[in-house]
Amino acid sequence: MSVENSSVASSTASKKGVVIIGAGLAGWHVIDAIRAKDTEILITLITADSGDRYHKPMLTMAISQNKRASDLVRASGSEAANTAEVTLLANTQVTDIDSVSQTVQVRSTAQSDDALTTIGYEKMVLAMGAHPIFPKSLPQDLVWHVNHIERFSQLQEKLATGSQHIAIVGAGMVGTEIAEDLLKAGHKVTLIDLNDAPLSQMLPAKATARIAKAIESQGIQFLGGYQVSAVTRVGSNDDDSDDAEKLQVDYARYHRMQIILILSRSNH
Ligand SMILES: Cc1cc2nc3c(=O)[nH]c(=O)nc-3n(C[C@H](O)[C@H](O)[C@H](O)COP(=O)(O)OP(=O)(O)OC[C@H]3O[C@@H](n4cnc5c(N)ncnc54)[C@H](O)[C@@H]3O)c2cc1C
Repeated sequence: MSVENSSVASSTASKKGVVIIGAGLAGWHVIDAIRAKDTEILITLITADSGDRYHKPMLTMAISQNKRASDLVRASGSEAANTAEVTLLANTQVTDIDSVSQTVQVRSTAQSDDALTTIGYEKMVLAMGAHPIFPKSLPQDLVWHVNHIERFSQLQEKLATGSQHIAIVGAGMVGTEIAEDLLKAGHKVTLIDLNDAPLSQMLPAKATARIAKAIESQGIQFLGGYQVSAVTRVGSNDDDSDDAEKLQVDYARYHRMQIILILSRSNH
């Protein structure tokens, strides 16, 4: 029961039932939970992406294991929708929700026209995930934020061009895991955090000090207690500026990097 875009969304408008917005882990898990109790209720899943089912935490281990994005997809959106008996509106963005008339407005992200379609609902689940913030010091066109399998796939392509020096901003669970993964894959890694040790917001100081030692002994350069204050592209007439970005931390030290990966919202 899959529909690739909103052009046929109007056919579901009169049927209502449960509308779920977002096909990440949350959206699909809600569907599993509903279907475990009710196999009849009408479910419409609306998502801006393809709706493919994958386990996002796998992204922090996939590069060293040489797994492509397609290897991580457990089921395509349409396969998963057929299995769960839901109507999937893939590549469809919700632009407005009217809780009084219990309708959502959607538009296709696959088509160039801006035509809007209205869909009714009885119950609604918002599973739209988190959206990254890009402050001035970390401009979106110069840094990578990998929160989706499609972006991960683009990063993987860039990494495939050979060993690179990668700055990871944010030494939380995800940043630290991905630092180890990229190191294993043969890249040079600098991990930067405001705190003086990785995982500082999760673990006591004694434990984080041991983790800092362990990752440094593996070969990850850890810059603890540093704030990224600017990222700029190095000009083409700059010395040895081969497709590099310049990272400035604490207004004082400059580091030349090829990729800057942001995995924290607290490092700016
Ligand atoms: C690299 C990485 C590693 C991680 N590792 C771990 C881990 O080890 N352990 C752990 O617990 N957590 C981990 N996390 C966090 C965890 O994966 C996420 O919290 C979780 O996947 C978020 O799922 P979600 O469904 O809420 O959001 P998302 O996966 O972001 O899905 C949001 C969905 O909403 C859709 N959407 C958004 N806006 C609209 C709109 N307007 N219209 C239509 N659709 C819309 C999107 O297309 C998408 O389908 C990791 C995260 C990352 C990035």
